[in-house]
Amino acid sequence: MTETSVSHTGQCLCGDVNYRAAGAMTDVLHCHCENCRRITGNFVAAVRTPTAELVVDDPEAQFRWIDLGFAAYGFCQACGSTLFFRATDRPDLTSVMIGTLDDASHTQLHSVWFAGDVQPHNMLNDTVSHFAGNDPG
Ligand SMILES: [Zn+2]
Ligand SMILES: [Zn+2]
Repeated sequence: MTETSVSHTGQCLCGDVNYRAAGAMTDVLHCHCENCRRITGNFVAAVRTPTAELVVDDPEAQFRWIDLGFAAYGFCQACGSTLFFRATDRPDLTSVMIGTLDDASHTQLHSVWFAGDVQPHNMLNDTVSHFAGNDPG
């Protein structure tokens, strides 16, 4: 478990939605469920933080929640970035998508959810080519 008292900031791709999380960030998770896969295009990598200590700055009113019943996902409707998800039965915790943090150097994987649904292409494999950028072809 990773825990820190440092305040964390982040934003969506276009920058219309910014946030600050003053609470500790714990329980870094990967979720491979079908909902997370489809809404992100692959899988969710997120870190939980207390909802009460998460402040969303949305001056352009672009932030929306989409409620799927078991959980809600928060996103920027201007650029499409998914920023958060929140389980319906744990409204006190918000999971922040790690890729939207300004600095994710403190994050460490704690758990994998829906591990049985991990797709083959997500398995780390040292026998394949690794590129610093994109595949130069
Ligand atoms: Zn945006
Ligand atoms: Zn999920």
